[in-house]
Amino acid sequence: MADFCTVCANDMGFNTNIKIEKEFNKLKNGYFINCLCEGCTLDAIGKSETGELILGKYEDDRWFTKEEHFKEKAKGINI
Ligand SMILES: [Zn+2]
Repeated sequence: MADFCTVCANDMGFNTNIKIEKEFNKLKNGYFINCLCEGCTLDAIGKSETGELILGKYEDDRWFTKEEHFKEKAKGINI
């Protein structure tokens, strides 16, 4: 079974396996979880030391903001 994040699942009409808001809300500042979205290669959801949402992307060795990762579709994430 492929996993899809909130944004990709909404795009394709699939169930969301990787719930970005829910995972983010469970995190303490400075922590992250690993995942792998088959749609956008999102591979980590993190909360920065200052409490901001940060996103990891497969094969990119840095954190992205939701706007950098999802562009205009970042509006679909209520964080
Ligand atoms: Zn995705």
